[in-house]
Amino acid sequence: MARIFLSPPNIGKNEELYVKKVFESNYIAPLGEYVNKFEDSIKAYCKVDDALALNAGTAALHLALRVLGIKDGDVVLASSFTFAASVNPILYERCEPVFIDCDESWNLSPELLKKAILTAPKKPKALIVTHLYGQAAKMDEIMEICDSENIAVIEDAAEALGGWYKTKALGTIGKMGALSFNGNKIITTSGGGMLIGQKELVEKARYYSTQAREPLLHYEHKDFGYNYRLSNVLGAIGVGQMEVLEQRVARKREIFELYKLNLANLDLEFMPEVEESRGNRWLTTLLFKQKNAHLKVIDALAKQDIESRPLWKPMHLQPLFKNALAVVDGTSEEYFERGICLPSGSDLKDEEIDKVCKIVKENI
Ligand SMILES: *Cc1c(COP(=O)(O)O)cnc(C)c1O
Repeated sequence: MARIFLSPPNIGKNEELYVKKVFESNYIAPLGEYVNKFEDSIKAYCKVDDALALNAGTAALHLALRVLGIKDGDVVLASSFTFAASVNPILYERCEPVFIDCDESWNLSPELLKKAILTAPKKPKALIVTHLYGQAAKMDEIMEICDSENIAVIEDAAEALGGWYKTKALGTIGKMGALSFNGNKIITTSGGGMLIGQKELVEKARYYSTQAREPLLHYEHKDFGYNYRLSNVLGAIGVGQMEVLEQRVARKREIFELYKLNLANLDLEFMPEVEESRGNRWLTTLLFKQKNAHLKVIDALAKQDIESRPLWKPMHLQPLFKNALAVVDGTSEEYFERGICLPSGSDLKDEEIDKVCKIVKENI
């Protein structure tokens, strides 16, 4: 049997055809028709005003901070239980992060959010809230708290395309949202990202994403920008991947259910789904009862050429952020010490799930 990866790319029928069309047109870059089509398909799918295709999800988060005017010593609240890319842009803008722990939803705790606002050294300007592993955070509570405090909410929906909260796509509830099309995400352009939100803000980000060029014949600059846009070749891959997104979500959710069924008799806690939401189940994640039980399982799977991972190590436990303020109650730390991400590729076969489950059962 071939190696089983955690979440490998899964290319559909049309991506190669669209890339070919890009080559036939000669306009592999810069930008072009397929980047526009990709943005349009995200706008239509997420029911969002505007979308900006970028070369990374990290770039989307960075531009969100930039267009919201957050910089130089401003306090930015953030989910601690996330990937570093979620919060690195806080450092790019020389801001001060304040990390907030998760609750039983595995996502940002609204209670600790309130506490963080009171504890922060000054009034926070923004919150970066992650929808972890594609599952929605408690957005009603979070929006209510942040709206009343005038804190801009940026949703890190990098893992969560295809996920919903009530009637809204994840990433479209706060002021701005970031999506990622990195190689391991639910759909991929090999690398890429998208910033979504209101037209006015996204337009401003569009300006910054291409070196902040003034609309003149010659190159005129009043501000500094970045080279953050996506190439037309990758836009073509994105258009093809959007055609299969719903299928990918359906299979990811099915994989989660298959694991749950297969491992039903064990004392495990799977990542929950908050009320009135539909996550994309990007990765199937669960907690073992015993601390460090996941390490033995990861090791046993690796011996059979199967990739699995611990959960994200919380940001407040990272050496990089040892001096950052953190409003935590031990929840994410505890999850990190006994949680696992199981292979969840959308092309994973049922037999492969059985094989993984057998190894899990033999090793706990
Ligand atoms: C993947 C990811 C990002 C960054 O996306 P890139 O496209 O890799 O830059 C940000 N936040 C989270 C939670 C992610 O998983």
